[in-house]
Amino acid sequence: MAKVADYYSVNEVSKPADKRVYHDNDQCRAGRDIPKHEQRKGQGGYRHCNDC
Ligand SMILES: [Zn+2]
Repeated sequence: MAKVADYYSVNEVSKPADKRVYHDNDQCRAGRDIPKHEQRKGQGGYRHCNDC
């Protein structure tokens, strides 16, 4: 597991507010499922992903 710069999905906003998260690990399954073009740098004001 490697820590990377914080990122989140542009589609996070379509989820319920309490489900929105950002990621910071390159091995996180949910994070890897986000296509590159849908990733945005930063935390987006969301919680930290539980799997990261
Ligand atoms: Zn994650």
